[in-house]
Amino acid sequence: MCNVYRRFVDHFAQMSAPMTSMLKKVEPDRLPELDEERRSAFEALKTCLISPPILRLPWLGLRYSLDTDASDAQIGCTLLKKHDDGNRYPIGFWSRTLSLAERNYSTTEKECLAIVWAIQALRPYLGRERFTVNTDHHSLRWLMNLTDASRRLARWRLRLAEFNFDVTYVKGIKNCLANALSRIPATGGTTVPIDEEIPCFSVLERMLRPRNPASKAAITHDEIVLTQHSDPFCKEITCHLQEGEGVAQIRLFKFFMNKKRVFLMYLAHYPAASGHPRRRRLSYTLRQRYYCPSMLVDAYATVRRCSDCAKARIKLRKHNAKLKTFPPMGHLEFITIDILGELSRTPRGNRYLLVISDRYSKLTRTVPLKRITAETVSQAFVTHLVFVYGASVKLLSDNGS
Ligand SMILES: [Zn+2]
Repeated sequence: MCNVYRRFVDHFAQMSAPMTSMLKKVEPDRLPELDEERRSAFEALKTCLISPPILRLPWLGLRYSLDTDASDAQIGCTLLKKHDDGNRYPIGFWSRTLSLAERNYSTTEKECLAIVWAIQALRPYLGRERFTVNTDHHSLRWLMNLTDASRRLARWRLRLAEFNFDVTYVKGIKNCLANALSRIPATGGTTVPIDEEIPCFSVLERMLRPRNPASKAAITHDEIVLTQHSDPFCKEITCHLQEGEGVAQIRLFKFFMNKKRVFLMYLAHYPAASGHPRRRRLSYTLRQRYYCPSMLVDAYATVRRCSDCAKARIKLRKHNAKLKTFPPMGHLEFITIDILGELSRTPRGNRYLLVISDRYSKLTRTVPLKRITAETVSQAFVTHLVFVYGASVKLLSDNGS
């Protein structure tokens, strides 16, 4: 790992000499002890790796690449950016140990776990960018095209569907950064398992996103004119204007957009510079320059589909504690009642069924009723349950809702 960046470290050979001397085969079976001189050389090399000019800030406009690797007990990744001088400079190094359950995964699953974990951990960097994942496991090149993947791999593939990336195979010897990180024992770091729930909204969001990253640039005037000429709604409006039906004198400053409205919504909401405006703000901003009949509805739908906004909404919720269950501990402790109907009228004139159930014993009684009033329901409850089995401790009812 140090050798990869040796050309960026001044006096590398001199600095690493105490470490290099350990590789001499004086004692072939075991490495010599790490004395004070060697320890300080090791610390100095570590400091060089996590300082400029090796470690750099993420520069806008350059493409990210993510090197990942997995060993038997650990996974690691490096996030890099390729600069104009042709070199890839790291932005950070991450690794974590595998839990006991994860150590039983197959090699493919471990390598895939490294990719899923790395992408999820680095979501703030990679969420809206196109990037490359480098792995030394050849079969993961086809990760996004697997047809007979195991259930776990299929779930992970869906989890990654919202990200825009290519998987590239590199030989193990060239994947030395991630290789080292997956083998140097790490302390700390979370081993929280990957969420197994399939994020449906993420798949939808990816479908909406423009496929060509170059098309993320703002829409041009020529494009607007071209779209207006081929849009039936715009054609109709132009026709009315040419015929002079009332509005011909008004200067047409708003662009009528029907075809490109999804793309416009994307431009006005998703990029970091737009700042994810809420629905009213989004429709107000777009109305300044564009018009289409369904603009307000589209703005509402765009904000509702956005996964980032959904996460922000969850954080804002006041009551997000988990629901509790109330298991019954004995007979007649918890009685539930509900009304079934309105059903077809019986010869005796009954149209409803009062269903009474004991949650502990599952004993269920049904009482036909002609009318639903507080009086008829309470009378049926007392007659058919309390007088027969005894009074209950708690009564659960949805009160007709
Ligand atoms: Zn949003």
